[in-house]
Order: sequence, then C-alpha cells, then structure tokens
Amino acid sequence: MRDKNIVIIGAGYAGLRAARKLGKYNSARVILINKDDVHVRLSEIHEVAANRVEPDGVAVPIRGCISSGASFVKTVVSRVDFEHKQVFTGTGPIGYDYLILAIGSEPEFFGISGMKEHSFTLWSLDDAMRIGAHIEKMFTAALKKRDAQKRKELLTFVIGGGGLTGVEMAGELAESIPCLSKRYGVPQGEVSLIVVEALPDILPVLKPNLIKKARKVLESKGVQLMTNSPIMKVDSTGLELKSGEKIAARTLIWTGGVRGNTFIEKLGLPIGGRGRIKVNEYLQTTHPDVYAIGDCAHIVVDGAPVPQQVEVAFQTADCAAHNIMADIRGYDKKKYRPKIYGTVVSIGRRYGIADFGTISFTGLFAIMLKRLFDIHYILSLGCFRLTLEYVAHRIFRKR
Ligand code: NAD
Repeated sequence: MRDKNIVIIGAGYAGLRAARKLGKYNSARVILINKDDVHVRLSEIHEVAANRVEPDGVAVPIRGCISSGASFVKTVVSRVDFEHKQVFTGTGPIGYDYLILAIGSEPEFFGISGMKEHSFTLWSLDDAMRIGAHIEKMFTAALKKRDAQKRKELLTFVIGGGGLTGVEMAGELAESIPCLSKRYGVPQGEVSLIVVEALPDILPVLKPNLIKKARKVLESKGVQLMTNSPIMKVDSTGLELKSGEKIAARTLIWTGGVRGNTFIEKLGLPIGGRGRIKVNEYLQTTHPDVYAIGDCAHIVVDGAPVPQQVEVAFQTADCAAHNIMADIRGYDKKKYRPKIYGTVVSIGRRYGIADFGTISFTGLFAIMLKRLFDIHYILSLGCFRLTLEYVAHRIFRKR
C-alpha cells in the first residue's frame, strides 16, 4: 500500500532517475515536481547552440519517462517548510514524508564585472536556442556593415572557459562556421573563434597527452586558444583580460564554471562548496528525511568533493532511492561511494576524447562511445521509445 509521500523537486538526470526508481516500489506515492514538462539532456545542448540539432532533439517529455507508480506536477516551488514537511508550489502545498532535492546547478560568474549582463550562458535549452539565434544574427548584421572593424567585432566569437563545456561548444561552433559563412556569403577568413582560459591549459581533467590532442584538433578547425588569460571585465563591446588586452566581440559564451542553484540559498540548509547543499554519506541533509542528489549536492568522499557529472547524478539518485526505501521497510541504508569511470568529451561531430584513466580513445571511436553512453542514460531513464527518438534525431533531423 502506498501510504508514504515521496516528493522529488527537479527533473534533471538525478530527479528523473530517482522518480523512476522509487515509482517501482508499491510502498510510496512518488510526486515529481518540475517547472517545465520536459527533461533537457544538458550534456547535448551545445549541439543546439551551434544550430546542428533541433531543440526537441534534446528535450524529453517528462510524462513519457516516469513509471506508473509516480506522478508529475508541472509547477514552480517557492519554499519548503521542513518543520511541517510541506513543499509550497504554484499549484498549492504538497505534503511529504521524504523529500529529494534534485534542483541542479547554474552558471557561476565569480563576480566578474559585467559577465552576467553581457555574456551568453550555456546551461539550459533556452540558453542554447538564444546562442543559436544570436550567432545567425551576427552573420546577418555583418553582411550589412562596410566598416572592417565593426564586421570583425560582429564576427568574433569568444568562449570564456576551456573546460568540458567550453571545448564542446568550441568544437561544434568551429564546424558550423563554414556552413554559416557559405549561407550568409561572409568570407570564412573574417570569422574568429577564440577560447579564453584562465589556467595554463584547457581541459584540466584530461591527461596531458590527451590535452595536447584536443588542442591540435581545435587548432586544426581554426579555433584560437588563449590560455593563462583570465577574463576580468566584460561590457557590450567585448572583454578585458588580466594582462590588460582587450578583445572586441559581440559574442561571449560563458562556460567558466557552475554552482548550486540560487534557490538553495532560500532553503536555509547548510551550504558547502560552490553554493551546493551539504549532505552526509547517506546523501541526507541536516533533516534526515530530506535528501539532496545530483549537481545541487555537495558530497565529500575521502576528503574530496565529488564532481558534477551525469554518472554521479544517476548514482546519487539510486543511493537516495535505496536509503528512503530502507527507512520505510526497515533495512540498512547504503553509504554513497562514487564510481567515476572517466571523461568523454566531443570536439565536433566526429572527434572525441575518452579518458578512462588507464585506457583512452580518441577520434570517431570515442564519439561513438559518447553516443552509446547517451543511449545508456536514456535507457536508464527507462524509455525505449525515447531511445529510438534519440537515434532518429541524430540520423534524420540534423540541420
Ligand atoms: P568547469 O569548471 O569544468 O570549467 C570551467 C573552465 O573555465 C575552467 O577551466 C576554468 O579555469 C575556466 N575559467 C574560470 N574562470 C575563468 C575566467 N575568469 N577566465 C577564463 N577562464 C576561466 O565548468 P564546465 O566546463 O562548465 O563544466 C561544468 C560541469 O559539467 C563539470 O562538472 C563537468 O564535468 C560537467 N560537464 C561534463 C561534460 C562531459 O562529461 N562531456 C561536458 C560538459 C560539462
């Protein structure tokens, strides 16, 4: 009998997976809350931003993913009353016995002057669509300008941050520039694509030999890499580096890092590194019936913070689901132990780098692995139909 209410806030990778897992048990009613009725595969939105994949190719209807034991409410949560176990939403209060916070992350601007106001972030489907439309607008505007300096400013595209998001965006954009140049009649030589990274090198998560390969591939696609170059200031005309150098550009895509969702500050729970919710080894917050999973949780294992990755989102969802059922049914809870197999990064459509520590792959095989992981994630969310749609989008609906 379903006599307990489990409420999950957020339908990203972690929240959706938890809803799917918990919906299978018949001891609880599971209510998944999300502000939109689609789940967005954030790990693929750079493909939308570069106008290669249609937005609906990365957005999945939530109702199609959850199991019959779970229900979905499309609404916005305004606050949580932990004492009386109530979640306040746009459609009224919802009581809970157990609550899972899976509210994700958002871009971190590190207080850089003008960054929030004048850059494009890449952390939602809307962000990706905005970037895609803006890039096309820059090409159209450049066509009308006679002044060489003004054209240069319109056709300079800067990516701030050479981490995984920045490099994936640069790889995609580098491949779409020749098509855009042809379509708009703009000489390709007038277009600049620059990755600006604060650290001595891009992709610090990869092994040095793989970083070298990534650099080579990006440079062969015409991407200029500026390392040791922290961005200090941004305005409507461009950006300024620590060295004092200025880059005149109308497009800065900011991929300099992420932090916990600002909604977390309203909750009044203890906050750990980068604005995320502190949890114990069972993924519980200071309220034992409230769990935090995925990107919004600050999890420290053996003294080190666990990175924000899709596989961590899935694993934390499984662990929290197990622990809640353990509490309801009276068996032992599990401590969360991350299993991080490695990193796979794409640089455009056909080149990837997969770093699994002792073994690594580059090129087309690594991209195929990335696609297989995507399919594995979609299947883990439990819907075979969505997997077929994913494959169909990749084959038939590319722009
Ligand atoms: P990140 O923190 O991994 O990388 C941000 C980069 O921006 C860093 O290299 C940093 O040095 C640089 N930076 C910060 N401030 C700067 C400044 N002022 N000027 C210039 N550069 C600056 O962030 P991300 O790449 O957005 O990734 C966020 C999370 O998402 C990570 O946990 C990552 O693992 C995950 N992710 C994974 C994949 C994948 O697995 N393929 C892809 C994208 C994102």
